[in-house]
Amino acid sequence: MSARRCECGYAAADALHLQDHLQESFTPPDAVAPDGRVHDEGAEPGRCLCGFGGSSADDLDQHFLAVFTPPDHVGRDGRRHAVPARL
Ligand SMILES: [Zn+2]
Ligand SMILES: [Zn+2]
Repeated sequence: MSARRCECGYAAADALHLQDHLQESFTPPDAVAPDGRVHDEGAEPGRCLCGFGGSSADDLDQHFLAVFTPPDHVGRDGRRHAVPARL
């Protein structure tokens, strides 16, 4: 299994670490997404504060990534973070 690499140069050991990296790059400290709502894991495991409830932790991660990723993929550090589509 090969490492996954972000456009910023970050190399993750696996897809999970890469997802963590993207989330850290795009999620602001106040967890307010571009849609103006707060998205964070609530008191109920697997459920977002916006009401989204996934069937697994992975679903929730995908949700966070979807709401926090800006259209231009530029993270809080001013760099572009994106992963080449899976082949
Ligand atoms: Zn949400
Ligand atoms: Zn990156």
